Amino acid sequence: MNIVLLGAPGAGKGTQAEKMVKEYNVPHVSTGDIFRKAVSDKTEMGIKAKAYMDRGELVPDEIVIGIVKERLMTDEFKDGFILDGFPRTVAQADALAFSLGEMGKKLDMVLSIDVDKEELIQRLTGRRVCNCGKTYHMVFNPPRKDEICDECGEPLKQRDDDKIETVNKRLDVYFNQTLPLINYYKNNGLLRVIDGRKSASDVFEEIRGVIGVYK
Ligand code: ADP
Ligand code: ADP
Ligand code: ZN
Repeated sequence: MNIVLLGAPGAGKGTQAEKMVKEYNVPHVSTGDIFRKAVSDKTEMGIKAKAYMDRGELVPDEIVIGIVKERLMTDEFKDGFILDGFPRTVAQADALAFSLGEMGKKLDMVLSIDVDKEELIQRLTGRRVCNCGKTYHMVFNPPRKDEICDECGEPLKQRDDDKIETVNKRLDVYFNQTLPLINYYKNNGLLRVIDGRKSASDVFEEIRGVIGVYK
């Protein structure tokens, strides 16, 4: 099962990817997570990426494409993958199709999680994350204890780019640079639109239905 999760920042890609990994036992690649790790490890690539991320802009295609290609070629993904946050530009989508072709693979479907702008802003500004990888929302999915991770007890943090100034910029970038991918994948027949405004478990039920029909 080779799947792309498409959707604006805050649409719930990471949340749904986590559920899909459990249900289908397919590994997940999040380019945002890869970059955040590189930034915290202060690698050369992380230092370059940080400047773009802080401004809410996309990291240049040539950096992202190389990283994803390298990952997807590893054995871990030989039986499938869920891509979250990639592709985000038409150039990235073309490069993905080309690289998969070289590996004798192809995408099975692209799930576009659809959420309106007001809801996206609420979701992003209320998001809190833990270093262990868990994601919460102060209203929609709060931790049991105020600002403390349920799983590991560490204090939760707000991502710098989830502050309102950067959120607006990221949404603009999404509408200008990533939205064209909806038509791109509609035209090649891979697109499946998912109503992302429902609760996380109801969204997942819809995804299960769509994948179930395919299987
Ligand atoms: P969200 O999940 O909120 O949409 P991500 O974690 O996917 O955000 O991405 C955070 C940041 O990492 C982006 O704003 C961008 O700077 C960078 N990034 C992630 N994926 C890509 C990509 N495919 N192309 C370019 N930049 C990316
Ligand atoms: P993305 O990876 O697309 O940026 P996330 O999965 O991190 O999005 O979700 C963004 C925020 O919204 C998180 O705080 C998450 O807990 C919350 N969230 C995710 N899905 C839903 C949902 N269906 N309803 C309400 N809040 C949600
Ligand atoms: Zn934690």
